[in-house]
Amino acid sequence: MYPSPINKLISLFSRFPTVGPRTATRFAFYCLKTDSKEIDELISALKEVKESINLCEMCFRSIEKEKKLCNICLSGQRDKETLCIVEKEADLVSIENTGEYNGLYFVLGGTVSPLRKEDFKKVRAKELKERIKKGVKEAILATNQTTEGEATALFITRLLKELDIKTTRLGRGLSTGSELEYADEETLSSALKGRR
Ligand SMILES: [Zn+2]
Repeated sequence: MYPSPINKLISLFSRFPTVGPRTATRFAFYCLKTDSKEIDELISALKEVKESINLCEMCFRSIEKEKKLCNICLSGQRDKETLCIVEKEADLVSIENTGEYNGLYFVLGGTVSPLRKEDFKKVRAKELKERIKKGVKEAILATNQTTEGEATALFITRLLKELDIKTTRLGRGLSTGSELEYADEETLSSALKGRR
Protein backbone atom coordinates (compact mmCIF):
# COMPACT_ATOMS: atom_id res chain seq x y z
CA MET A 1 0.00 0.00 0.00
CA TYR A 2 2.80 2.45 0.85
CA PRO A 3 6.26 3.06 -0.55
CA SER A 4 8.69 0.50 0.84
CA PRO A 5 10.55 2.78 3.33
CA ILE A 6 7.21 3.53 5.00
CA ASN A 7 6.23 -0.13 4.97
CA LYS A 8 9.54 -0.99 6.58
CA LEU A 9 8.98 1.54 9.35
CA ILE A 10 5.46 0.22 9.93
CA SER A 11 6.72 -3.32 10.25
CA LEU A 12 9.46 -2.22 12.68
CA PHE A 13 7.04 -0.28 14.88
CA SER A 14 4.65 -3.26 14.83
CA ARG A 15 7.25 -5.28 16.72
CA PHE A 16 6.93 -2.98 19.73
CA PRO A 17 4.85 -4.40 22.59
CA THR A 18 1.18 -3.41 22.48
CA VAL A 19 1.62 -1.62 19.13
CA GLY A 20 -0.69 -2.94 16.44
CA PRO A 21 -0.54 -2.19 12.69
CA ARG A 22 -2.78 0.87 12.97
CA THR A 23 -0.69 2.54 15.63
CA ALA A 24 2.48 1.51 13.80
CA THR A 25 1.17 3.23 10.68
CA ARG A 26 0.43 6.39 12.65
CA PHE A 27 3.94 6.34 14.12
CA ALA A 28 5.45 5.92 10.66
CA PHE A 29 3.52 8.87 9.24
CA TYR A 30 4.37 10.93 12.28
CA CYS A 31 8.06 10.31 11.55
CA LEU A 32 7.56 11.26 7.92
CA LYS A 33 5.93 14.52 8.84
CA THR A 34 8.11 15.54 11.74
CA ASP A 35 11.22 17.71 11.27
CA SER A 36 14.70 16.22 10.84
CA LYS A 37 15.91 17.58 14.16
CA GLU A 38 13.39 15.53 16.10
CA ILE A 39 14.20 12.42 14.09
CA ASP A 40 17.92 12.90 14.80
CA GLU A 41 17.11 13.20 18.48
CA LEU A 42 15.16 9.95 18.31
CA ILE A 43 17.96 8.15 16.48
CA SER A 44 20.56 9.22 19.03
CA ALA A 45 18.29 8.36 21.97
CA LEU A 46 17.77 4.86 20.54
CA LYS A 47 21.51 4.39 20.14
CA GLU A 48 22.23 5.78 23.59
CA VAL A 49 19.82 3.42 25.31
CA LYS A 50 21.63 0.45 23.79
CA GLU A 51 25.11 1.78 24.43
CA SER A 52 24.88 3.37 27.85
CA ILE A 53 22.67 1.03 29.85
CA ASN A 54 23.89 -1.85 31.95
CA LEU A 55 22.02 -4.31 34.14
CA CYS A 56 22.46 -4.36 37.91
CA GLU A 57 24.50 -7.45 38.75
CA MET A 58 22.20 -8.37 41.64
CA CYS A 59 18.66 -7.55 40.54
CA PHE A 60 18.98 -7.02 36.75
CA ARG A 61 17.39 -3.57 36.67
CA SER A 62 18.75 -1.14 34.13
CA ILE A 63 21.41 1.21 35.39
CA GLU A 64 23.99 3.57 33.89
CA LYS A 65 26.85 1.75 32.22
CA GLU A 66 29.53 2.92 34.66
CA LYS A 67 27.70 1.32 37.62
CA LYS A 68 27.61 -2.32 38.67
CA LEU A 69 24.80 -2.23 41.22
CA CYS A 70 21.61 -0.18 41.42
CA ASN A 71 20.72 2.20 44.25
CA ILE A 72 18.26 -0.28 45.80
CA CYS A 73 20.79 -3.15 45.94
CA LEU A 74 23.45 -0.78 47.28
CA SER A 75 21.25 0.73 49.97
CA GLY A 76 22.09 -0.08 53.56
CA GLN A 77 18.50 0.61 54.64
CA ARG A 78 16.85 -2.32 52.86
CA ASP A 79 15.98 -5.73 54.26
CA LYS A 80 18.45 -8.00 52.51
CA GLU A 81 16.71 -11.23 53.51
CA THR A 82 13.54 -10.54 51.52
CA LEU A 83 13.56 -10.78 47.75
CA CYS A 84 10.65 -9.74 45.57
CA ILE A 85 10.66 -11.53 42.22
CA VAL A 86 9.05 -9.65 39.33
CA GLU A 87 8.64 -10.32 35.62
CA LYS A 88 9.86 -6.97 34.42
CA GLU A 89 11.26 -3.68 35.58
CA ALA A 90 7.97 -1.79 35.28
CA ASP A 91 6.49 -4.14 37.91
CA LEU A 92 9.39 -3.36 40.23
CA VAL A 93 8.68 0.35 39.83
CA SER A 94 4.98 -0.20 40.66
CA ILE A 95 5.87 -2.06 43.86
CA GLU A 96 8.53 0.47 44.78
CA ASN A 97 6.00 3.29 44.31
CA THR A 98 3.71 1.82 46.98
CA GLY A 99 6.39 2.66 49.57
CA GLU A 100 5.27 -0.52 51.34
CA TYR A 101 8.19 -2.74 50.43
CA ASN A 102 11.63 -2.51 51.95
CA GLY A 103 13.36 -5.64 50.69
CA LEU A 104 15.34 -6.24 47.53
CA TYR A 105 14.21 -7.27 44.04
CA PHE A 106 14.98 -9.67 41.25
CA VAL A 107 13.85 -9.08 37.66
CA LEU A 108 13.17 -12.35 35.84
CA GLY A 109 13.22 -10.71 32.45
CA GLY A 110 10.30 -12.66 31.03
CA THR A 111 7.55 -15.19 31.65
CA VAL A 112 7.06 -18.90 31.17
CA SER A 113 4.16 -19.92 29.00
CA PRO A 114 2.18 -22.96 30.17
CA LEU A 115 2.31 -24.31 26.62
CA ARG A 116 5.82 -23.64 25.48
CA LYS A 117 8.16 -25.67 27.65
CA GLU A 118 11.31 -24.11 26.25
CA ASP A 119 10.14 -20.74 27.62
CA PHE A 120 11.97 -21.37 30.89
CA LYS A 121 15.09 -20.25 29.06
CA LYS A 122 13.54 -16.79 28.81
CA VAL A 123 13.68 -16.21 32.56
CA ARG A 124 16.81 -15.81 34.67
CA ALA A 125 16.29 -19.09 36.54
CA LYS A 126 19.93 -19.96 37.15
CA GLU A 127 20.75 -16.40 38.21
CA LEU A 128 17.77 -16.40 40.58
CA LYS A 129 18.89 -19.59 42.28
CA GLU A 130 22.38 -18.20 42.75
CA ARG A 131 20.94 -14.96 44.09
CA ILE A 132 18.71 -16.75 46.63
CA LYS A 133 21.67 -18.69 47.97
CA LYS A 134 23.22 -15.40 49.06
CA GLY A 135 21.26 -14.94 52.28
CA VAL A 136 17.64 -14.66 51.13
CA LYS A 137 15.09 -16.01 53.64
CA GLU A 138 11.84 -15.06 51.97
CA ALA A 139 11.06 -14.92 48.25
CA ILE A 140 7.91 -13.03 47.26
CA LEU A 141 6.57 -14.12 43.89
CA ALA A 142 5.13 -10.94 42.44
CA THR A 143 4.29 -12.17 38.96
CA ASN A 144 1.23 -10.84 37.15
CA GLN A 145 -2.19 -12.42 37.68
CA THR A 146 -2.25 -13.58 34.07
CA THR A 147 -1.95 -17.09 32.61
CA GLU A 148 1.75 -16.53 31.93
CA GLY A 149 2.27 -14.95 35.34
CA GLU A 150 0.65 -17.94 37.07
CA ALA A 151 2.71 -20.41 35.04
CA THR A 152 5.84 -18.45 35.85
CA ALA A 153 5.04 -18.44 39.58
CA LEU A 154 4.53 -22.21 39.47
CA PHE A 155 7.80 -22.69 37.63
CA ILE A 156 9.71 -20.55 40.14
CA THR A 157 8.06 -22.27 43.12
CA ARG A 158 9.29 -25.63 41.80
CA LEU A 159 12.70 -24.19 41.10
CA LEU A 160 13.07 -22.89 44.64
CA LYS A 161 11.65 -25.96 46.36
CA GLU A 162 15.02 -27.50 47.15
CA LEU A 163 16.26 -24.28 48.75
CA ASP A 164 15.37 -23.76 52.37
CA ILE A 165 13.42 -20.50 52.11
CA LYS A 166 9.90 -19.23 52.65
CA THR A 167 8.08 -18.58 49.40
CA THR A 168 5.06 -16.28 49.38
CA ARG A 169 2.75 -14.84 46.75
CA LEU A 170 0.93 -11.53 46.59
CA GLY A 171 -2.38 -11.67 48.45
CA ARG A 172 -5.89 -11.14 47.18
CA GLY A 173 -7.04 -7.82 45.85
CA LEU A 174 -5.39 -7.98 42.47
CA SER A 175 -8.01 -9.11 40.01
CA THR A 176 -7.46 -12.01 37.65
CA GLY A 177 -5.87 -10.98 34.40
CA SER A 178 -4.47 -7.84 35.93
CA GLU A 179 -0.91 -6.67 35.56
CA LEU A 180 1.05 -5.15 38.42
CA GLU A 181 2.18 -2.39 36.13
CA TYR A 182 -1.37 -1.05 35.96
CA ALA A 183 -2.53 -1.81 39.50
CA ASP A 184 -3.16 1.18 41.74
CA GLU A 185 -0.86 1.73 44.70
CA GLU A 186 -3.45 0.94 47.32
CA THR A 187 -4.39 -2.44 45.79
CA LEU A 188 -0.75 -3.37 45.36
CA SER A 189 0.04 -2.25 48.85
CA SER A 190 -2.62 -4.47 50.40
CA ALA A 191 -1.65 -7.41 48.13
CA LEU A 192 1.86 -7.04 49.45
CA LYS A 193 0.76 -6.89 53.08
CA GLY A 194 -1.57 -9.84 52.55
CA ARG A 195 1.05 -12.05 50.97
CA ARG A 196 0.89 -15.69 51.95
ZN1 LIG B 1 19.91 -3.92 41.79
